[in-house]
Formats: sequence, structure tokens, C-alpha cells
Amino acid sequence: MTRWRHAEATDTGLVRQSNQDAVYVDDSLAIVADGMGGHAAGEVASEMTIELLRTGFAENRTVEGLYDAINTANITVLNDARDNPKHFGMGTTVIALGLTVDDEGVTSPTLCHVGDSRAYQLRDGALRQLTDDHSVAEEWVRMGRLTPEEAAVHPRRHQLTRGIGVEETIAVDVMSLHALAGDRLLLCSDGLSNELDGDTLARLSSAPFTLDEAVVQLVEAAKEAGGRDNITAVLVEFDEVSVSATPIKRTISSVTPPIARAAAPTQKRRKRRRLSWRTPAALLLFAGVVVGAYFVVHWYAYSTYYLGNDAGTVAVYQGQPSGVLWFKPIKVFDTNYQASALSRTHRVALNQTIPEPTLKAALDYATFLCGTSCNASTTPTTPTTTTTVKKG
Ligand code: MN
Repeated sequence: MTRWRHAEATDTGLVRQSNQDAVYVDDSLAIVADGMGGHAAGEVASEMTIELLRTGFAENRTVEGLYDAINTANITVLNDARDNPKHFGMGTTVIALGLTVDDEGVTSPTLCHVGDSRAYQLRDGALRQLTDDHSVAEEWVRMGRLTPEEAAVHPRRHQLTRGIGVEETIAVDVMSLHALAGDRLLLCSDGLSNELDGDTLARLSSAPFTLDEAVVQLVEAAKEAGGRDNITAVLVEFDEVSVSATPIKRTISSVTPPIARAAAPTQKRRKRRRLSWRTPAALLLFAGVVVGAYFVVHWYAYSTYYLGNDAGTVAVYQGQPSGVLWFKPIKVFDTNYQASALSRTHRVALNQTIPEPTLKAALDYATFLCGTSCNASTTPTTPTTTTTVKKG
């Protein structure tokens, strides 16, 4: 089961004559629509959209049901505007959060949106914006043509690139959400997000404030900040979340078969999705190279042996006399034979270290130097190669 509690608030603000925002929330669906159009037309578009989403989703509580309802709203608003001169040019944004049921009967949150109304996820007081604004300025930011700072004051920041009731085909961003119990989701119109920065939104939306307190104070804060537009906020808090058996990875779709039309508008998103698996793959590869390099260096460092002078006695070492990186040579056998008892030539050679390719060759040479008394070739008290590797 996935369950949420909810609260909502909407306000005309301080400048506009009417409230063209519309809002709806129940136990399985939350919607904010920000209508636009002369006279009361914006209100018509946003109310119509909410009504069609409610009825459509009530009939079909799947991702497709929610998505189809948005398309129905688009066509209905468009036709109404064509047929009714008073409604000419009307349109609306829509952001809808539905608890959708998948094939396995598992309920999980799905977010659909068109326009510049936003959704944020709140967890432990931190805020994350879930949606991209479909406005000219924000699209340009995503294309790299503007910085976020430039976009914030850009004259085309309010001009939508997508909206309900604008064109016969529509691209809808669809995402399945991974929420945890205790997470809150904020849906809002731009009248809220334009007036308040992220920190303020996070603080006012989060515990210890109840959902009802939070939505009221969000709206009040937006009014205090200017209230230049209609202000709407919906908050839901998850009490319980079940994990979807078949999580939906689709992030975008459109009126005609979603996959067929996906090309142009989804390019950016597809890139991101490729990144999302490429990045871990690249990290894995990098980690593999690092681990591989470690073992190659390790192998090289301990691939050879030598005899050396260990504080006056003859000893056998595994490794390179001067070490390789952080792999220092390891003493694998101590003959206890005094180096001073060696001939001068051998002593000089020992002090300069005597390389041998294998442990056996090194031990044999130690026997040669020190005599059988050191028992080097027969019973080395040595750690085996395996144990020395472990030490390394
Ligand atoms: Mn607005």
C-alpha cells in the first residue's frame, strides 16, 4: 500500500483580479493547474483540466490512465477554445501526482506535467525540484544558452513552450517517483515558486509544520514577497510506500504513440538516461583498472627475491630491494648466520643485495653462503609466497 495525507491552499495574490489557478487533491490524486487566457478563460481551462483528470483517473488508475486523461484535457480545452470565441487562446499548465496501480497491483506515485508548475520532493528538510519548467528561458538554460541567473530575469521566462490547449499534440513529462515514508511532495504554481527561493520553500514546507500549517504559510509568504500572481500549493506526505514491482522508467510521452514521437523533445532526457547507466559503468571500469593496476604492481613488486644483510645476519627477502611504491620488501627467511663470517667478496655482494629469481634459488644461495647449518634449502621457516602476498 502507498498512502498519503494531504493539504492544499490557493490564493488570488495581491495583483491579479481573479484566481485562474485550480487545485484538487484526494487520497490518490493531486493536481495543480495554472490557467492562462483573457477574461475568465484561464479559469475555464484549469478547471476543465482538473475535472477531466479526476474523471479519467477515477476510471483508469494506471500511468496510462493518467497520461490519457491529460491528452483528453488537451484536446477538450483546445476544441473549446476554437468553438467558443470567449475562450480563444486559453490554456493551462498541469501537474498531476497520482498513486498509480501497475500490472502487479502495486500502487506507487507517478508524476505527469506540462508547463511551468512545479513539483518538489522534501526529505529531512532538504528540497529537490523534480520537474523541468517548460518555459522558453528554462529550456534555454537546459540547452546551455542561458545561465540559471540569466533565466531568472529573462523576459521570456514566463513564456511556455508546452501547455494544455495549445496544440493538438502534446509532450507530457511522466516520471515514476521513488518516495519513502515521511517524504513530502510539494506541487505548486509559479506564483509560489517565483516568489520564494528554494531554502524558504524547504523550511516552510517541512516538519515540524503540519501539512495544513505549511500550505497556509507558503501562500502567506508568497504574498508577503509580492504576490504578483495566483498562488497555489499542495502538500502530500507519504505515510506508507510500497515499492513498485515494475517501476516506470519512461520520462516523456506524447499524443501519438509515445515512442514514435519521442525523438526531438526527448533528446535531452535520453541523454540523461544514458548517463544514468553509463556513469556507474564508467566508475566500475575505472575501479577495475585501479584494482588491476594494484595487482600488477603488487605482482611486480614481489616477483623476485634477494639476499641481504639484516642487521649483521644473512637474510632472504621477497621483493625489490628498494621497494616498489608502497610495497616494501618482506624478509622471508633469516639464516642467523653472521655476515661478518662471510668472505669479504661475499660480504660486499650481500651488502649490495644478491638478486635471485625464485625463493628456491635464494635459499639455495643462502645455503651456499652459510653452509648447511642454516638449513635454508630444506626447512625454511618462511612464510610461503601466499602468506607474503597477504602481508603485502
Ligand atoms: Mn501562474
